[in-house]
Amino acid sequence: MTDPRVVTLKHFFERVRAGELTGIRCTKCGALEIPPRELCPTCQARAWEPVPLAGEGTIASYTVIRVAPRAHAADVPYAIAAVKLKEGPSLLGRVQDIPLETLAIGLPVRFRPIVKDAQTAIGFGPA
Ligand SMILES: [Zn+2]
Repeated sequence: MTDPRVVTLKHFFERVRAGELTGIRCTKCGALEIPPRELCPTCQARAWEPVPLAGEGTIASYTVIRVAPRAHAADVPYAIAAVKLKEGPSLLGRVQDIPLETLAIGLPVRFRPIVKDAQTAIGFGPA
């Protein structure tokens, strides 16, 4: 890490690949955001510090994808969920190893990375 105050998307996904979820906290107003962004949406400051997150949360909403872009065509159906992390912010991720028919708002889930070749994505599996 070159500058711990700046958590870039690249660094964020490197940590994701290692199985860690990192949020950023605004040192001016305390807002907690994930994934990293340039400016604080609350106070417009650029004064972030990284915050390790537990990766535990509950499903806030979800969508079942039945027709996917070509790259994911072999994977359908699958679900994308907005997960409300226990630290507060919400994060979009792909649902893994949870039967689609058991998906529900409020279902506890746990972050886990989806690593495929050079690609890393956010995933959520059973809590
Ligand atoms: Zn702020």
